[in-house]
Amino acid sequence: MNGSSAALAPALPERVDVIIVGARAAGAATAMLAARGGLDVLAVDRGGYGTDTLSTHALMRGAVVQLARWGLLDRLERAGTPLVRRTTFAYGALEIPVEIRPRGGIEGLCAPRRTRLDALLVDAARQAGATVAHGLRCAGLVRGPGGRVRGVELVDGAGRARRVLADRVVGADGLRSGIARETGAAIRRRGAHASGVVYGYWRGLGIEGYEWRYAPGASTGAIPTDDGATCVFVSFARERFRDELAPDVAAGFARIVAEVSPGLAAALGRAERRGGFRGFPGVPGCLRAAHGPGWALVGDAGFFRDPITAHGITDALRDAELLARALATGRERSLVDYEQERDALAVELLDLSDAVAAYDWSPERVQELHRQLSEVMKREVRGLEAMARAAEPDAAVAALASGAGPLQEKTK
Ligand SMILES: Cc1cc2nc3c(=O)[nH]c(=O)nc-3n(C[C@H](O)[C@H](O)[C@H](O)COP(=O)(O)OP(=O)(O)OC[C@H]3O[C@@H](n4cnc5c(N)ncnc54)[C@H](O)[C@@H]3O)c2cc1C
Repeated sequence: MNGSSAALAPALPERVDVIIVGARAAGAATAMLAARGGLDVLAVDRGGYGTDTLSTHALMRGAVVQLARWGLLDRLERAGTPLVRRTTFAYGALEIPVEIRPRGGIEGLCAPRRTRLDALLVDAARQAGATVAHGLRCAGLVRGPGGRVRGVELVDGAGRARRVLADRVVGADGLRSGIARETGAAIRRRGAHASGVVYGYWRGLGIEGYEWRYAPGASTGAIPTDDGATCVFVSFARERFRDELAPDVAAGFARIVAEVSPGLAAALGRAERRGGFRGFPGVPGCLRAAHGPGWALVGDAGFFRDPITAHGITDALRDAELLARALATGRERSLVDYEQERDALAVELLDLSDAVAAYDWSPERVQELHRQLSEVMKREVRGLEAMARAAEPDAAVAALASGAGPLQEKTK
């Protein structure tokens, strides 16, 4: 570590209950909920406030229900994020429109840009009393007796360093989590497949709902987002990325859209593209241990599933709530419950996402995978609704972890 310890960000506390590394979907939501639960929280992010990140940002029902319950959905709507009231699944020529029914206090889904969603969560965390600092990188962990994690070493853009101590350090630092690496968080399950993704934004596309289209070997998605724009992506087995997409992303994107959906290709030709393409070459799913002595993981840091099922932010927000409840109890045992509750859904979500990302299915098989995914998501929403009803956070956590709790409930 370089630099002096006194010079950095004097407003930072020396000691807090919880330090969270990473302040986006998982980290900012955990900070907000832990602070609302009465904990003294510091969240840091090496990136900037309100910046973008790689994501097509479609929210599933669980995430929207939580944003509404936290009092944040109205703010998104007022800022210009449209509600999505229909999803269309297309398997070749077969189109299946699905109306989004009002339930759980929401009238539809939505897909805010990360510039908007992550900033909103940071604002809400600050309003709840958490300190959130950007431009600070966690450069290492501080360990106490027996190797227990006791804090973090932070470094700012000028190389100045500062140590902050805490009862618990939470890694919300994403897919390539340094906290997971430094703690040696055990890998519980891995995916075998990975999809590559290329996406961009268009205005004037005239698509009002989510549209997911599947053809042998590839799929497309159209996701209405902020300020009249639509995010359009192509997804394919990651083996195609290097050979077919990387040499000329725009041409590869156009070819795959035409292959999966000539109608969408024609509509894109009439619409106005905004900005460039962004690409993700694909990384197999990975589920890690969620906690250890003095540390915990949340969001992609502990559970990454292939983006093809558009469920990462929904997972991050759900698990932020489960983790914040566990932290508020101050009991080590609650983190065991947290891991069990997370994994009651995570294992199936990882496996289903992995199966779709294989791109080796028939149209009937991918429809069946979507049917199974829909059942998991119904269970997820029932679990979230039950958590919201529980007056006693402890009672909700106990019910969720009991095996008879809502997240473990068998689908009828
Ligand atoms: C191509 C693509 C498309 C996707 N599409 C969707 C979708 O449609 N819907 C959906 O729900 N999900 C989607 N996802 C997944 C979703 O983006 C992630 O699940 C989500 O971003 C996870 O949030 P997070 O807060 O855990 O991590 P991240 O959003 O990755 O945030 C981690 C933060 O940690 C910070 N950080 C890392 N290391 C340090 C450090 N040492 N010190 C300080 N800060 C640090 C980073 O700066 C970053 O801001 C997609 C992902 C990809 C790649």
